[in-house]
Amino acid sequence: MLEHAVKSELIALLGDRFSDEPEILTCYAYDSFLEESMPDAVIFPKTTDEVAKIMALANRAKVPVTARGAGTSVCGAPIAAEHGIVLCFSKMDKIMEVNTADRYVVVQPGVINGDLQKVLAPSGFFFPPDPGSMNFSTIGGNVALNAGGPRCLKYGVTKDYVLGMQVVLASGKVVRFGSKNIKDVTGYNFTSLFCGSEGTLGMVTEVTLKVIARPETTQTLLVTFADLDSTARAVSDIIGSGILPVSMELLDKMTINAIEDAVQMGLPREAGGTLLIEVDGSREACDRERSQIVHKVKEHNVMAVEEAEDEADRNRLWAARRAAYGVFAKIAPDILSEDVTVPVSKVPEMIRRIYQITEKYNLKAGVLAHAGDGNMHPLICADRKNKEEWKLVKKAFREIFVAGAELEGTLSGEHGIGLAKAEFLPLVMDQESRDFMACIKKAVDPNNILNPGKFV
Ligand SMILES: Cc1cc2nc3c(=O)[nH]c(=O)nc-3n(C[C@H](O)[C@H](O)[C@H](O)COP(=O)(O)OP(=O)(O)OC[C@H]3O[C@@H](n4cnc5c(N)ncnc54)[C@H](O)[C@@H]3O)c2cc1C
Repeated sequence: MLEHAVKSELIALLGDRFSDEPEILTCYAYDSFLEESMPDAVIFPKTTDEVAKIMALANRAKVPVTARGAGTSVCGAPIAAEHGIVLCFSKMDKIMEVNTADRYVVVQPGVINGDLQKVLAPSGFFFPPDPGSMNFSTIGGNVALNAGGPRCLKYGVTKDYVLGMQVVLASGKVVRFGSKNIKDVTGYNFTSLFCGSEGTLGMVTEVTLKVIARPETTQTLLVTFADLDSTARAVSDIIGSGILPVSMELLDKMTINAIEDAVQMGLPREAGGTLLIEVDGSREACDRERSQIVHKVKEHNVMAVEEAEDEADRNRLWAARRAAYGVFAKIAPDILSEDVTVPVSKVPEMIRRIYQITEKYNLKAGVLAHAGDGNMHPLICADRKNKEEWKLVKKAFREIFVAGAELEGTLSGEHGIGLAKAEFLPLVMDQESRDFMACIKKAVDPNNILNPGKFV
């Protein structure tokens, strides 16, 4: 519970944008992961100045503060593990400047990614990072989790587009990093440090993002393979030959069949895997890349190649990929979607290992992947109430992370660490590197009030 004096000061500052009513707090006790922790209060600041005053107060009173965007994290990152205050940015949602001549936009952290895309569309520009949650996740959350998405294969992840930011530190001091310039090597690269820091270093209250011009055209292919190994080998073969599609989304047999069971899209149930491949650029470049890709996939046990003829057809091909997460919910009450990344040449081996591990424990599992990035999402279907089965799910995931580390991969390609994977960090970061991270945290947040109980 918050001390009376702290509560009174917050109410004086925020009025009805403060709540400690249990039914409201419950809504902010979880994200899209499977753990929960009740905060003592949730607050909705509207300005940087308010955030600065809140942080100064929290630091003085040593109250934990956990930032929250839309709560779509799938790793427990915005859960207030040590209670205290959840500071939700949903009311700081203004797009403050759009400047396509200088290729940047300035936004508040609560802006929804998809809303920014809509505002940019008429100008012919776009913001490339496109997490599957883009229609509801916020730019602040995208920055703090360094979000990626299907088109990040060609265009990169959030940190590649952050030019500058305003941050409120744990002390309440307001600082600015970076600038509005596409080229800027002035001082330490703090913008990158904050990307992926999961709200453990400061509150991001304004972001300057690079935007880029839309390509002339986009072409989409759906390729079906007889077996999953051929699907995975086709991925590393295409990438290894120097072709860089916008997206290469892989679905395995279980996912294909789950989609067909749920929504009948006409995907071939007997296929071992499919790749949804997209290229963009000038029409000539797209035509060339598309025929190179068709040529390459045909060396890999291909059953069918379908090419989208127009926008409606393109949406039809993407519909299967978009349905993929939802349809798993029909298989079991709980779906654990993980996120492991390996160098792209090791995708075939990693997929083999995922299957070996899940089969060993007799678990139902599908694999989705942003395969061109080597980023795999094994999805295990289980029932949390079945304690024995749940223990096996946890064992399987540990072994999947160990396998990823053995293949020189990493713990997360886009979902982050949060509560979900903090315990696995030593698999990919040695003690010295973790000490260095802790050293930075201590320097900027000596009282450990920013999102405590997480990976650092
Ligand atoms: C259906 C679905 C699909 C998804 N697909 C993808 C995907 O393709 N790629 C991907 O990368 N992720 C994906 N995600 C995960 C998630 O949507 C993203 O990580 C997203 O960036 C989280 O944004 P949010 O606004 O919901 O942030 P939250 O979940 O609210 O918070 C995330 C983290 O950011 C911190 N934070 C939030 N705002 C600030 C701020 N202003 N300052 C400092 N810290 C802050 C929080 O403390 C927390 O640690 C998906 C999730 C779902 C549910």
